[in-house]
Amino acid sequence: MEKSVLLLIMGLFSVSAFAADKCSYDLLGTDTRDYKNEQGEIVKQIIVPSSCTNFTITLRNVTKMHKNIMGHNVVIAKEKDVKAIAIDGAIAGVKKDYLKPGDTRVLAASKMIGGGDKTSVRFPVAKIKGGGYDFFCSFLGHERKMHGKLIVE
Ligand code: ZN
Repeated sequence: MEKSVLLLIMGLFSVSAFAADKCSYDLLGTDTRDYKNEQGEIVKQIIVPSSCTNFTITLRNVTKMHKNIMGHNVVIAKEKDVKAIAIDGAIAGVKKDYLKPGDTRVLAASKMIGGGDKTSVRFPVAKIKGGGYDFFCSFLGHERKMHGKLIVE
């Protein structure tokens, strides 16, 4: 009896340790041009545990539209560069998935995906430890709403 209680307590500890160090986040891209979580809440920030070596953001496009109509991606870059990256992405156009090829201001970016598709972006946490990094969608006109902060804790 005592042994099983002990095992249960140990189990609870390992579950909470895992939750605290979760090195990934699941985002949904919607037809209202928002990033939402599984609970349907708009996501404007993501906590990145500093204990993680790499962090992965997985994106699911939950619309029913083609990627050229309501495409979503996740781009990681410094907050101060986001506007300029979005403008250059608009110039690059739909054929380049609204991202300038080889843009050195982009730390990491997922593919642009359409309705029903799933993609992910992975980046080293050491790169964003200084702070000031955001995530956003580079599809034409989406950056204003689909845009949030990466908070390293
Ligand atoms: Zn989008």
